[in-house]
Amino acid sequence: MAEILLKLSEDRHLKVRYPWVFNNQVKSIPNGLKAGDIVNVLNSKRKLMGKGFFSPHSAIMVRMLSFEDAEVNENFFYNRILSSIKRRHNLIEKTNALRLVYSEADELPTLVVDKYDDFIVIQTLGAGTDIRKGLFVDILCQILKPRGVYERNDVPVRAFEGLPSNKCLLRGSAPGLLTIKENNLRFLVDIENGQKTGFYLDQRDNRDILKDFSHNAEVLDCFCYTGGFSMYALHYGASHVMGIDASQESIMLARKNALLNNFANRNFEFKMANAFDELKQFDLAGKKFDVVILDPPSFIRKKEDLVSASRGYKEINLRAMKILKPGGILITCCCSYHISLEIFKNILISCASNVKRSVRILDIKNHPQDHPLLLQLKESYYLKCFLLQAV
Ligand code: SAH
Repeated sequence: MAEILLKLSEDRHLKVRYPWVFNNQVKSIPNGLKAGDIVNVLNSKRKLMGKGFFSPHSAIMVRMLSFEDAEVNENFFYNRILSSIKRRHNLIEKTNALRLVYSEADELPTLVVDKYDDFIVIQTLGAGTDIRKGLFVDILCQILKPRGVYERNDVPVRAFEGLPSNKCLLRGSAPGLLTIKENNLRFLVDIENGQKTGFYLDQRDNRDILKDFSHNAEVLDCFCYTGGFSMYALHYGASHVMGIDASQESIMLARKNALLNNFANRNFEFKMANAFDELKQFDLAGKKFDVVILDPPSFIRKKEDLVSASRGYKEINLRAMKILKPGGILITCCCSYHISLEIFKNILISCASNVKRSVRILDIKNHPQDHPLLLQLKESYYLKCFLLQAV
């Protein structure tokens, strides 16, 4: 087994089970090591710290698979995937669309597997998982017997590993539009062309917040995509729902989703527009809502953009707070890990003081069970969702 030797004291993170080894922590690499190989990681005293995937093109040179002397073979991966799936058994009643494998949190770094009814979407975001894609697909087919497996490796993060962007059908037949069921609501999902792997599975629990606040409410769902939050609002009795998204395809699917859920005779509107402009218009027109949802895309890709991204979050949250009726609810999300919970909270505090309103925090949520966070890996904490109430 190839051995990677760490510099003096550079085993301190591994000792607390932080799962990444950066290239500047490494003293020596044996000749001939290839991207994706399994390596033993040794500290400066040559003590084995564990095993991981080798990624020569990434600043994260090794991603740990085990902190023991485990034998990493096909059986190892089979068992890891099977236990990830089994851990989610309780969720299957709520939804037939969920994340089955989530990278480091499931001890399978850079492997992402989502299930949409009986289709599987796979992402191999690092060298170690990419060269074993065929093995993972075999294992998934053996365990789940899906109708098809689709690859959605068209994500920028692969570039850090020197991997190309790619999407294609790997097994079975092309799915077309799928219908999934989440908490008794149905959604059309396009796993080939939709955003992420087709649906924002990570917002499932946060959408359900609307249960307590939608009755007879006038709801504004900004950045609505295919109407995730909007459908929940209608389901839980909203008197009117307005969804806004910049993508025409998403808006068309949102309208179809409303019909699919038998809301044809309810009051809703889905509009293709820039949410920044619409929020401004509502504010200038003095329009008020009972509930406003803000679920924007990440405004920040790299740390250096923190200031401009913060400005974006500030603008939409400020407008949203202005257009809430007294006692109105703001569900506001941030999916960038560069903006920590504390930074996001400070942005919200400054919005509240600017609009001169007291605002209650009713809850702060983050990831759902099928997107677990690894306690030791703060880089995996991306989703924050504040449930606020304007006084
Ligand atoms: N709330 C959705 C997910 C939202 S993802 C759900 O539960 O499914 C973010 C969405 O913001 C994407 O659909 C994207 O098309 C949209 N978007 C990005 N920039 C936008 C803008 N300036 N105005 C409106 N929508 C925007």
